[in-house]
Amino acid sequence: ALNVGIVGLPNVGKSTIFSALTAIEAVAANYPFCTIDPNVGIVTVPDTRLNRIVELVKPKSIVPTTIEFVDIAGLVAGASKGEGLGNQFLANIRSTDATLHIVRCFEDPEVIHVAGKVDPLADIDVINTELLLADLDTVERRYEKAQKLARTSQDSKIKNEFSALGKLREAMNAGQPARAVELTEEEKPLVRDLFLITMKPTLYVANVDEASLAEGNEHTRAVEARAASEGSDVVRICGSMEAEISQLDPEERNEFLASMGMEEPGLDRLIHAAYRLLGLITYFTAGVQEVRAWTIRKGTKAPGAAGVIHSDFERGFIRADAYNCEDLFRLGSEQAVKEKGLLRSEGKEYIVKDGDILFFKFNV
Ligand code: GDP
Repeated sequence: ALNVGIVGLPNVGKSTIFSALTAIEAVAANYPFCTIDPNVGIVTVPDTRLNRIVELVKPKSIVPTTIEFVDIAGLVAGASKGEGLGNQFLANIRSTDATLHIVRCFEDPEVIHVAGKVDPLADIDVINTELLLADLDTVERRYEKAQKLARTSQDSKIKNEFSALGKLREAMNAGQPARAVELTEEEKPLVRDLFLITMKPTLYVANVDEASLAEGNEHTRAVEARAASEGSDVVRICGSMEAEISQLDPEERNEFLASMGMEEPGLDRLIHAAYRLLGLITYFTAGVQEVRAWTIRKGTKAPGAAGVIHSDFERGFIRADAYNCEDLFRLGSEQAVKEKGLLRSEGKEYIVKDGDILFFKFNV
């Protein structure tokens, strides 16, 4: 599953937000494996299109798609040198697809701040510096090896790897994250196995108090400016309120949201932002037995999309019957979609679109 690592200094609200996320969504999805690791939460991706398809198809079961959140505790100043949980935390974060960086933007004298005052930009710098130092260490070690090899070899792979490492090393020594470094198409795959943390897309979460939720405050504005300068996004949420919302049953929750003038919980906005950040889209399979949402990366072709269901589907892929759920909503039934000639038969090169409803034909 695609997963997102949650980082931030101690006491910024990581556990609060992580628990709220997993409390709501784990119950909703009833996933038996969501409790295997207390730091990993499987969260369903809210999607109103799934509900609409369900209303029309009336299946026996409904399965939403999911995204995984990993609470990466123990990141403090000096982590890259082994302070706090140090190396253990670094190992956990290397395997994630994206980073959610929670920043404290609320004042509360009851909640101690590790640096003595609320200063989100300073906090962001502490975390990003640790991540950068950890990556730089990885890059320097590989650079030395590659340098030796490149001296005696004419292999273009070795040359390309060496040049990629040189670019990364230079930028990172100047304080830039790996994702800001422009690598060529030849270079990119050669450094992928370094699993650089600062290569991952990052979403900032400004954790505010209730009063600042609608309009933001000086802290959130600072975070937004910083994120914009890095090409990252910011989601504003109130962790303590989300924690309360997550304890309500669905009916109470809707009443509460309506009373706050909110359409959806902040956590849903967060999940959607993470989905966008990862460049993900959803396609559906819709039968009377089951309507189900599946996650793929933008640009995935039909066989790859089939492979998310089962590797046999990808190997034996023949064709996919396809139409978009918007056609279904407009016309009201699959029969009507067929009659309008909107059900297409697509081959191996078809690039699946967001909201497609697919039926795979395959050899076993
Ligand atoms: P972590 O160390 O980053 O995991 O932080 P926690 O989630 O344990 O939160 C630290 C403290 O801040 C706890 O006492 C929370 O109740 C409190 N807290 C979390 N979110 C908010 C918030 O949005 N507003 C306020 N006032 N307190 C919060």
